[in-house]
Amino acid sequence: MKASIGLYNKLVNDLYFKMVPIINTMKNKRIEAVKEALRQPLTWPGAYPKSFLSHDGVICHKCIRDNFRAVVNDCRTGGPWNVKVDVLWEGEFQCADCGCEVESAYGPVEN
Ligand SMILES: [Zn+2]
Repeated sequence: MKASIGLYNKLVNDLYFKMVPIINTMKNKRIEAVKEALRQPLTWPGAYPKSFLSHDGVICHKCIRDNFRAVVNDCRTGGPWNVKVDVLWEGEFQCADCGCEVESAYGPVEN
């Protein structure tokens, strides 16, 4: 019995160390997308504005820049500054951190 627990631990350990680089690559892709969106705020093709979406809502470029260390850390750990880059197609949005207006691709919805 002792031997099988040892084997189980070894398998879990091996699997974990095989997964670490895969998980890191996935998380780093998110950070790379954030860096890319700060450098190049418009999509190509299309020239639509890139936005940052967090669990709390839309975050403006200035707040991402001002909190960049937290963003990089939280994209790895899943904290509150964990954001993904996306295009807001239509509607009016406010930054969840500073409250400023965030541009969407086609602006406010018209009725
Ligand atoms: Zn903001």
